[in-house]
Amino acid sequence: MNAPTSLMWFRDDLRVADNPALSAAMAAGPAVALFILDEQSPGIRPLGGAARWWLHHGLNELRDSLAGLGVPLLLYRGAATNILPGLLATGSFTALHFNRRYGGPERAVDTAAKALAAAAGIEVHSHAGTLLHEPWTVATQGGTNFKVFTPFFNALQALPLRRALPRPAAQHAPAISLPAEELAAWDLLPVHPDWSHGLAATWVPGEAAARDRLGTVLEDIAGHYAQTRDRPDTDGTARLSAALRWGHLSPVEVWEALGFTLARHPDRAAGARAMMRQVAWRDFCWNLLYHHPELATANLRAEFDAFDWARPGAGVPNDEAEDHFAAWCAGSTGFGLVDAGMRQLWETGWMHNRVRMVTASFLVKNLGIHWRSGEEWFWDTLVDADAASNPANWQWVAGCGADASPFFRIFNPQLQAKKFDPRGAYVARFAPLSPGEPIVELGPSRAGALAALARMKESGGTGVEG
Ligand SMILES: Cc1cc2nc3c(=O)[nH]c(=O)nc-3n(C[C@H](O)[C@H](O)[C@H](O)COP(=O)(O)OP(=O)(O)OC[C@H]3O[C@@H](n4cnc5c(N)ncnc54)[C@H](O)[C@@H]3O)c2cc1C
Repeated sequence: MNAPTSLMWFRDDLRVADNPALSAAMAAGPAVALFILDEQSPGIRPLGGAARWWLHHGLNELRDSLAGLGVPLLLYRGAATNILPGLLATGSFTALHFNRRYGGPERAVDTAAKALAAAAGIEVHSHAGTLLHEPWTVATQGGTNFKVFTPFFNALQALPLRRALPRPAAQHAPAISLPAEELAAWDLLPVHPDWSHGLAATWVPGEAAARDRLGTVLEDIAGHYAQTRDRPDTDGTARLSAALRWGHLSPVEVWEALGFTLARHPDRAAGARAMMRQVAWRDFCWNLLYHHPELATANLRAEFDAFDWARPGAGVPNDEAEDHFAAWCAGSTGFGLVDAGMRQLWETGWMHNRVRMVTASFLVKNLGIHWRSGEEWFWDTLVDADAASNPANWQWVAGCGADASPFFRIFNPQLQAKKFDPRGAYVARFAPLSPGEPIVELGPSRAGALAALARMKESGGTGVEG
């Protein structure tokens, strides 16, 4: 008879070190790993193109490193609640382990999975492995969730943080053979056309490269991060967002490493502290999504439901908005910093945070286009496209989110370029040719945005947060 074997279900946690669910599964004996590409369960948001490219490579690496630990990886596609019953009925497994997820549809799937396992007589263990702290633990004294970041951050820092776990020791692979799917058959990589060259030239998806980059960040970037984090013309930020999105690194490992750096290297303390604050923003966004599962589709501030943003491609025909949106996506707005950002996004699947704010502000304010259109474009093109951070930041820029930047604060892309790309090196790198005619004038489009805000207020926006 086979030794009791655990099934470890990977999702957004594609790593072997500091993976609480994997460590627990392997501590109990032999383990088999599972990944389900689930785009069928109700409400699950299908991955964007850049994310699919990343996932392909991330899974390849995970399969190899799990093989080194004696853990075979099984791949399936379909609704998890259709796949799991068959697997659980094979009689091969005594326990199911996974790290918790926090999106509404994902939680529904995980609740159903627990019931399926219980019905099959299999123990289920869910673990905390994806955030610094579980969303329900960072709460106000009244027990509600925070709407403003700084008190959230203070409360988060007051909580004890678990220690990062080491990579589990290798063990004998279980004597289980089950039919599974081939990664190549999932067609996650683009072919006709293959637009992924720039992504491949920029990134090595996976845990090993992410940990290497973390080393570089601690050694070479943390020391000046506080000064360089707003400078797209430098390698001045962590560039770890995709690694965190896919769970190649846990936020606990990153936070702990920054904490050690802060304590041991006073010259890097300010930068390490500033970066820890940003990592906590990620938790804040997930906290928002946990409490507002409709974050990607509904304004957090209900008064913005009355804002008359254009929504290209979704109903009411509007040629100007369609053209403007196409120009924004293609990086041909005539504003150097906006165009460089949008081209960096298209070429590399990533954009510097300062430029994300400028391009987003330009879309929703100067072009009057709904933040949801921009959010969807980012979702499709970012390798770090994150179900919480993407909509939360779009809502922040659009002024309709929690703790949002006020709508009337409209970035001027030309002044932003002077301030944050003073020698023009970033624009020269991604948008080297002189920009064409601007598609809008900054002054009148700014005035138009403020007039739209006034109309929204007159039309009886409640001012109450949704
Ligand atoms: C419109 C818009 C859309 C965005 N969409 C995403 C997204 O889909 N996925 C995503 O990970 N980030 C998103 N961000 C946040 C931020 O731009 C990226 O996390 C950051 O640029 C990643 O680069 P970095 O790793 O060098 O960040 P660093 O500045 O070095 O920060 C370290 C880590 O902290 C986290 N972080 C930093 N800033 C934020 C923030 N504002 N919100 C949440 N987490 C943050 C990230 O995990 C990041 O890797 C968005 C920001 C804007 C303005």
